[in-house]
Amino acid sequence: MKISIFGTGYVGLVTGACLADVGHHVLCMDVDQEKVDKLRDGIVPIYEPGLETIIQHTTEAGRLTFSTDTEEAVNHGEIQFIAVGTPPDEDGSADLQYVVSVARTIGRHMSDYKVVIDKSTVPVGTGDKVKAAVQSELDHRGVELPFDVVSNPEFLKEGAAVADFMKPDRIIIGTDSERPRALLREVYYPFNRSHDRTIFMDIRSAELTKYAANAMLATKISFMNEVSNLAERLGADVEDVRRGIGSDPRIGYHFIYPGCGYGGSCFPKDVKALARTARDCDYPAHLLNAVEQVNEAQKHVLFDKVSHYFRGELSGRTIALWGLSFKPNTDDMREAPSRTLMEQLWQAGARVQAFDPEAMEETQRLYGDEAGLQLCGTKEQALKGADALVVCTEWKEFRSPDFAQVAAALASPVVFDGRNIYAPEMVTRHGLTYYAIGRGCNQ
Ligand code: NAD
Repeated sequence: MKISIFGTGYVGLVTGACLADVGHHVLCMDVDQEKVDKLRDGIVPIYEPGLETIIQHTTEAGRLTFSTDTEEAVNHGEIQFIAVGTPPDEDGSADLQYVVSVARTIGRHMSDYKVVIDKSTVPVGTGDKVKAAVQSELDHRGVELPFDVVSNPEFLKEGAAVADFMKPDRIIIGTDSERPRALLREVYYPFNRSHDRTIFMDIRSAELTKYAANAMLATKISFMNEVSNLAERLGADVEDVRRGIGSDPRIGYHFIYPGCGYGGSCFPKDVKALARTARDCDYPAHLLNAVEQVNEAQKHVLFDKVSHYFRGELSGRTIALWGLSFKPNTDDMREAPSRTLMEQLWQAGARVQAFDPEAMEETQRLYGDEAGLQLCGTKEQALKGADALVVCTEWKEFRSPDFAQVAAALASPVVFDGRNIYAPEMVTRHGLTYYAIGRGCNQ
């Protein structure tokens, strides 16, 4: 099938590559000339395991192409995916300008039937706005052409995006007509061979499903962080509590890990956007607002611990920081807890020596001018001459360090573990003081 995708970010690029991998002919369009030039040269601008190989062989096979030409993109596919960003507006609502702009582009250039599929995460009711935007361009041109609007939210996780797309837990398709339903079945047929994972529903329910899923996951994290803060004050160990509650199948072990807060491009903005939607329909979303408040506070917990340890005297200190991306296996720094920590440390007069396996380039782009930041080539280099070590992201390579070496390298032998990746005795037997999240019995 011939498919066009607008937006070559994490979602658009992975969608395009995976659809091309199973045999579809995909054109990925982006307004970012530099990104498209890189992709045409075989350079993948984001880090996502497995993506580069797929892009390489599908472009070589001629099934995946890249363009900045909107007209070419609209003409290419009967299927038109919108996968552009929906960043938060100042009031927390999702900014739909990019989505609507693509919808207009489609209306402006289409010459035959199109299925316009919203893959971006968009508030309930956006389907109507997309429809109106396409229609207004058609009216402006004075032509009558058939089209359908579909909501097909994406559930891939950064860091495992290719695997998630190839083996989805579910494919949500919101539509009220038969024609796009049949076409979408065909698009996704290769991903449904073993059993059909497609769930059809109306457009508004599909739009809400995406927000409900992310809000539920964010709620689990904030809930566990709240329990961890209680555990700390009560002399309990949240890690035992986690195992204790996770063993109940009604609760389960997934997504109940305490830490230094959630980040990324999705949870923070989607929780805010859903809370905003609630306000707009006069519903007081107490829980959603609390989820966000708990998370904001949690992003400050590591700084508070470090500051408390050094009795508020951070000026002139050097802090080694392991992990910058908002989670492992990605270079994404959007709303990463490491950023809150670094900014607080700089404000207090401390320096940061940081290492991350993938997010160094992005950190350099964001904070290259910051005098208090030194990006180091290895995690060991980050330790040299530092007063303390803070772990912000649970990358695999941080899980079993040589603690004797860590202790020898640090001026004050202390480790702050923002992700509870170590067993306390693993660290303390090397003479290091260990602070984690919610492990009151050890602190
Ligand atoms: P992104 O910021 O990585 O990429 C968006 C891309 O769209 C950029 O390359 C930008 O240049 C391009 N763009 C903007 N306007 C355009 C236009 N008019 N025409 C063509 N391209 C245009 O965003 P992302 O992380 O891929 O997210 C896209 C959407 O998917 C968002 O709504 C997001 O909430 C949702 N989503 C993201 C994830 C994730 O893990 N990142 C997961 C599920 C859903």
